[in-house]
Order: sequence, then structure tokens, then C-alpha cells
Amino acid sequence: MLQARSASLACRAATRCASSTLASRSFATVSNVSPARSHRVVVIGGGAAGLDISHKLLRSGKFSQDDIAVVDPATWHHYQPGWTLVGGGLKTKEELRRPLNGLVNPKFKFYNDSVAGFSPEDNSITLGNGDKVGYEQLVVVPGIAINYGSVKGLSEALADSRSSVSTIYNYDTCDKAYDTIQKLQKGTAIFTQPAGPIKCAGAPQKIMWLALDHWKRAGLYDPSKPSGSAIQISFATGMPVMFGVAKYNAALEQLRKERGVEGLFQHDLIAIDGDKATFALPDGKEAVTKRFDLLHVVPKMGPHAFVKSSALANEAGYVDVDDGTTRHKKYSNVWSAGDASSLPTSKTAAAITSQTPVLVHNLLQTLEGKAAEATYDGYASCPLLTEYGKVLLAEFKYGGVPSETFGDWFGIDQAVPRRSFYYLKKNFFPWVYYNHMVKGTWGGPKGWTN
Ligand SMILES: Cc1cc2nc3c(=O)[nH]c(=O)nc-3n(C[C@H](O)[C@H](O)[C@H](O)COP(=O)(O)OP(=O)(O)OC[C@H]3O[C@@H](n4cnc5c(N)ncnc54)[C@H](O)[C@@H]3O)c2cc1C
Repeated sequence: MLQARSASLACRAATRCASSTLASRSFATVSNVSPARSHRVVVIGGGAAGLDISHKLLRSGKFSQDDIAVVDPATWHHYQPGWTLVGGGLKTKEELRRPLNGLVNPKFKFYNDSVAGFSPEDNSITLGNGDKVGYEQLVVVPGIAINYGSVKGLSEALADSRSSVSTIYNYDTCDKAYDTIQKLQKGTAIFTQPAGPIKCAGAPQKIMWLALDHWKRAGLYDPSKPSGSAIQISFATGMPVMFGVAKYNAALEQLRKERGVEGLFQHDLIAIDGDKATFALPDGKEAVTKRFDLLHVVPKMGPHAFVKSSALANEAGYVDVDDGTTRHKKYSNVWSAGDASSLPTSKTAAAITSQTPVLVHNLLQTLEGKAAEATYDGYASCPLLTEYGKVLLAEFKYGGVPSETFGDWFGIDQAVPRRSFYYLKKNFFPWVYYNHMVKGTWGGPKGWTN
């Protein structure tokens, strides 16, 4: 903490605290090993949060060339929320990605490399190539990792083009999901969700609702006679409920029952062997194995190893920030938002739209020696596709308290699936993401920013 403050003061004293020699000398006062380069702000990750934050910072007008650095090893940036639409045959995966270097403003220093480690006491990070990069303020937003190893046999089944196992949580296989849905003519379809935090906790059932509607339209599934239909559908979730927010859970549970979908709660997928899926059960009960003709899998997810093993992580491995200010609890010049953060809300791009204005405001205040007084209220949103043409638009704050934008504006109940919300999900959100969010000009429920 003390060292971070010293670095901050040293930087402020310099006329231009960027990648200049002067800045490097400033950092040399607090570091044993002077990093080759230093920046006023280093942003780790050029995903939804990293692009939004770095561009919002730039738009403040307070930064010059190379003052802000973005570090990300990726070649492509993906609009991940669109992968559900790909799984439902509504978009192609290629139209949802952009070359990352084309999204990074030329005023940034872009390190197209991974971060291997943190030295918060030294105000530096280490890149995959071994180089050290110094910072005055650090923003840690590398998202989370998908743990394919959490399900034995999953990687092999996904890679096998003849298997009916797929996942929308991956660029390579999101289109396989639609192939398997189209091919299934009869038998048992199982859709899984793991216990524990994942990106967009609604997506595992969104793809199921689309598949159900597809089979209904094809005459293969009759919700009023599920057992007499050619296809039977099960939702096997490691969670005890359909959705974590009580209001929307009630609506989705009602849909599940009305549509004849079997609910296998607290069933956590652990292994796939041919056409058999094995689920762990709670309270030491013996695991159960089910046969399937189609299996849509959502693997467990968790923090990247380089974050989890660092001094920045909490016990669970997420970047340990204050729930309100998004500032690190120990290192006052470190910030986090999005999936990698410890913020106790849903891991969605929608949540990021409300986190980043707070983070950016507080970081800029800090650079000016002022208090970080902006507070994030936990806002997150999940547009739950319930069929082709309808979406239930869940919006909520910390504590699972509904916070409905359109409910406030028009007095409607967003737990009722609507056509207008479907067009938000299918057309508006992908458009606003690439035209505004990644450029730092989208504030989610608050609309456009500068
Ligand atoms: C199938 C699916 C459906 C979804 N549906 C929705 C939805 O409907 N609505 C919604 O709001 N959200 C949805 N989401 C969630 C949303 O996509 C994520 O919450 C969001 O992308 C998280 O942003 P992020 O910046 O934290 O992480 P990401 O966008 O994942 O970006 C992380 C970045 O960090 C980089 N990185 C990784 N490791 C390193 C490293 N070592 N060093 C440097 N950089 C690194 C990565 O290359 C990546 O570019 C969905 C996600 C999926 C997968």
C-alpha cells in the first residue's frame, strides 16, 4: 500500500509519467528491478471489460500516447454472449468476432502477450516473454478460465465431430451445438449447468429453450405430452434452482414445468463415457449415470492460474476488490471488474457496463489524489431466451433485488418473456457492443456516455 502511494506521488511529480525514462526512474525509487517500460495505467485483458475501461480512460482526455497499455495475448476478440445465438442457428460465429488489434486504440501501447505474474509491491507485472512492465495504476480484467478437465472425457467428446456432445461456451464448438440440435430426431437430450460460478448463468438454459422450440416446430416435441414425444428433455444442474434470482427463478421454474422439462437439480456433471453422462450428487449420495442422445455441456469455470496464485487473489482466486469501489482491498493502485473480479454478482458483459464507469471514475479520482467515492450497486442483467422470438429480461442488483429498466420506464413486468426483448438480445446488444461498448461509449442501463 505504502509503496503504491510512493509510486503514485513519484509519478505525479514527473511532468509526464508515461513510458518515459523519467517515469522509469520514478519507479526505480520503489523497485529493486526497474521495468524496461512503465505506463500510467496498465490494463490486463482486452476483453469486454478491458476494452471498455481502457477506452473510457482515454476519453477522459487525461492521457497521452502510450500512457495506457493493454496486455492481451489474443488474436481475436469475441462477442461471447452471441455464442448462444450461434448455438440456436441465429448467427454465425465468424460474424461475432473481430481482430483484437483493430479494436485497440493506436494511442495505447498494445502488448500482444500474456501476463505471467504480478509484483504489486514493485508496481510491475511480468509478461510471458519475461519482460517487466511497470505501472502507476493497474486494472486486472483477464476474465476467467473454462475448466474442461472438470468433466472426464469432455475434451475428447467435444473434439469428436461424430459425437453429440457440444458446448456454446467455446468458439470452436458453439456451432456444433446447433448441428447436434438439428440432427436429433428422437431420444434423450440433456442440458447441463455446473455447480459454482460461470459466465452468464442463464446461458445453459437459454440453449435448452431454443432447442426445445426447434424440436417443437419440427413436430418432435410436444410440451403437453413430453413422455409421448419423440424427444425427452432434461435440465441437469449442479445448482438447486433454475436461476439465482428468486423473481426470475419462479418464472423459469413455471416454464420448465409447463413445458415438461425434467429438472435434475444438484446434479453436477463429472464424466462422459460414450453416450453415458455421470453426475455427482450432494450429501455423499452415490453418483448417477444417465444415457443421452444429445448432451449440451457447460464445464466448470474459475480464475486463471496466474491470478489465483498471485498476491491479488482472494481465497477463491478472484481479484480481491471492494464490492462498491472496485478497488483492490490491499493494493490501492490495483482495480478489477468483470469475470476475474471478486464482485459478488453475475459474470456478464451487462454487469461490466455498470462496473466500468465506477472503476474509471474512481481510478481518475485517485490519480488526482482525490477520494474514490463512486459505488457499484451490483447491477447485472441476463436476457433469457425462452423460445425463438421471446426473451425474459432479468435485471437485478446485489442481493438478487430486481432492478428493471423497462419496468421503471413503462411499468411492465420483465419476468414475462417478450418479443421486444428478443430483438434487444439478437440485434441491439451485438450492435451496441461493437459500435459503442468496446469504444467506451456505452453505459448499459444508463445509455450512451460521452
Ligand atoms: C456462451 C456465453 C453466453 C453469454 N451470454 C451473455 C449474455 O447474454 N449477456 C451478458 O451480458 N454476458 C454474457 N456472457 C458473459 C460475457 O461474455 C462475459 O461476462 C464477459 O465477456 C466478461 O468480460 P471480461 O472482460 O471480464 O472477460 P473476457 O471478455 O473473457 O476477456 C478476457 C480477456 O483477457 C485475456 N486474457 C486471458 N488471459 C490473459 C493473460 N494471462 N494475460 C493477458 N490477458 C489475458 C483474454 O484473451 C481475453 O481477451 C456470456 C458468455 C458466454 C461464454
